[in-house]
Amino acid sequence: MVAALSAGLAVDTAGATAPEVNPLLPAWTGPYGGVPPFDKVRVEHLQPALEAGMAQQLAEVDRIAANPEPPTFDNTIAALERAGRTLDRVNTVYGIYTATLNDEAVQAIERAMSPQLAAFNDRITQNEQLFARIAQVYATRETSGLTPEQQRLTWLRYTNFVRAGAKLDAAAKARLSAINQQLATLYTRFGQNVLADENDYQLLIENPADLEGLPEPVRAGAAQAAAARGLAGKWVVANTRSSIEPFLTYSARRDLREQAWRMFVNRGDNGGKSDNNAIITEILALRAERAKLLGYPTHAHWRLENTMAKEPARAMELMEAVWTPAVARVREEVADMQAIADKEGAGIKIEPWDYRYYAEKVRKAKYDLDETEITPYLQLENLREGMFHMARELFGFHFKPVDPAKVPVYHPDVRAWEVNDPKGHLVGLWYFDPYARKGKRSGAWMSAYRTQERFDGEVKTIVSNNSNFVKGRPGEPVLISWTDARTLFHEFGHALHGLSSNVNYPSLSGTRVALDYVEFPSQLLEHWLSTPEILDRYALHYQTGKPIPRELVAKIRRADTFNQGFDTVEYLSSALIDMKLHLAGAQAIDPDKFERETLAALGMPSEIVMRHRTPQFNHVFASDGYSAGYYSYLWSDTLTADAWEAFTEAGGPWDKSVAKRLNDNVFSVGNTIDPADGYRAFRGRDAGIGALMRKRGFPAPK
Ligand SMILES: [Zn+2]
Repeated sequence: MVAALSAGLAVDTAGATAPEVNPLLPAWTGPYGGVPPFDKVRVEHLQPALEAGMAQQLAEVDRIAANPEPPTFDNTIAALERAGRTLDRVNTVYGIYTATLNDEAVQAIERAMSPQLAAFNDRITQNEQLFARIAQVYATRETSGLTPEQQRLTWLRYTNFVRAGAKLDAAAKARLSAINQQLATLYTRFGQNVLADENDYQLLIENPADLEGLPEPVRAGAAQAAAARGLAGKWVVANTRSSIEPFLTYSARRDLREQAWRMFVNRGDNGGKSDNNAIITEILALRAERAKLLGYPTHAHWRLENTMAKEPARAMELMEAVWTPAVARVREEVADMQAIADKEGAGIKIEPWDYRYYAEKVRKAKYDLDETEITPYLQLENLREGMFHMARELFGFHFKPVDPAKVPVYHPDVRAWEVNDPKGHLVGLWYFDPYARKGKRSGAWMSAYRTQERFDGEVKTIVSNNSNFVKGRPGEPVLISWTDARTLFHEFGHALHGLSSNVNYPSLSGTRVALDYVEFPSQLLEHWLSTPEILDRYALHYQTGKPIPRELVAKIRRADTFNQGFDTVEYLSSALIDMKLHLAGAQAIDPDKFERETLAALGMPSEIVMRHRTPQFNHVFASDGYSAGYYSYLWSDTLTADAWEAFTEAGGPWDKSVAKRLNDNVFSVGNTIDPADGYRAFRGRDAGIGALMRKRGFPAPK
């Protein structure tokens, strides 16, 4: 390991093929300014490369800190932007392995490395010489001739150091670093436990009669999942959202729906060695202690300081304003469902495992809309082309498949495209990893393998989209649900946010914006899925090739606010629990009891369960990520709804001048300006709550 480390450090760009060189360490080579060397990487390269990358960055940072010249923006702030390039590249590949190729070997590396990486970060933010230089540049930022972007970068660096404890005394720093390392270990265990329950539990169906109600694509997916597990001829409903939700929507077998539902909502809560409850208690206590150490009343106050909301009270205010009408809507939805169940003589009271199933029946009865009528028109590959169409019309981006011989991928399912502007200049690369597999975390996400920058020469971005669609039979098109199609456009919105970036410094680039702002561009682009321009051209029936009928589209439109009570309450209950857990301060928290009592106090409808129950809430407990930050989706949606009205008030979804304002003030600027200022420049005013309530079909506030 040490040999690999020093061999790697000695080599810069040359000799990448020499056998002793860790392929993760040299600068990326190949077309497009270099691409990740996935073809050369093996799991055993990860740990030595991370260690070498950290050592290299510490040496770089020490040089910046010990510079005898007086501190300037260039020799301190910009120099920090230049530092750590190797570790950035290694971390990118490491992140891909932990999120999408996660096996025993990767998990062992994660367990070893996560506390080391936390300690490494603290060594940098606790470097007093370095912080003194940053503080000096910060003190003179307005008078030293810096551009607004340079001033903002200086502000960001300075506040991030302070927020990470740069001003604490030595004893407090030591305690802080110990807490961060403990937390890193706990986060890793939390995420691995959820993954273990997703991998280890499944609903096995052996009797075809038990498939009652399931449409053909769902059956095919379950057959495929079984075959992949060596159970050919049977059917498997995997314990992941993309398998469970369609099953709950269509299975006519109430007993099996209940089984599937219980399996899914109990991830991380099954007792035994993958149980997350004790870990949550520990995480919350450590976070509360850390916040106090840093001078904040709670973890939530610390987390929200640099967001748009700025303080928990403002986030709570928004959530509470939406909660009451959403719960009222759920009562109506449940009444509609109960009426259908009663009429059918089902003799049941609607339970959480019935919600999706009966909601479908209500949708049919009220809107004459059947999800299974829509799905045959939603072919994954056609929708991808539809997204490319949207990107071309709104942002001028042209997508072209790369030469697979020149751009290696980390799994045969992954494909890559180059993105060019109308003049044919390269914008960046887009990688697409669409299918579920063992070892890939559930859900959908975007990540940046490399961010755009130009302060030391043009660097083009590399972004990726990941999802967990269930592969159909070989050679057959993959059909997805309307919800999944929206998610596809959502994640692509994040990718376009990254691709649109037009800034100088990587720390301010692309999607590196405030947490409660980052979902705004992605949520906004979900809207284009339901435009006639996309549906007429790209929602084509997988057998007849005919476009989705106008009447069906009209029905989809009319049903737009259908089930918003469910969607909103499912989400908001998670967001409220997240915030309340982190406002609770230093008391020892029993997550199960806290969840139960808080939901009861909120008046949570018994027919719905949180979208992410506490023991499986990866957003909040697998990293600091969305901790005290799950409200961000609602906060961003306030902007999203209002921004969509900017289009509808003008020439419609394809209005070029609104699209240009959106690009100039939102998509391209990254974190170079305050997001509130960017939004105001786009819209001419701040966003109120009215558009959000209209979007969800709730009564608008007076
Ligand atoms: Zn998102």
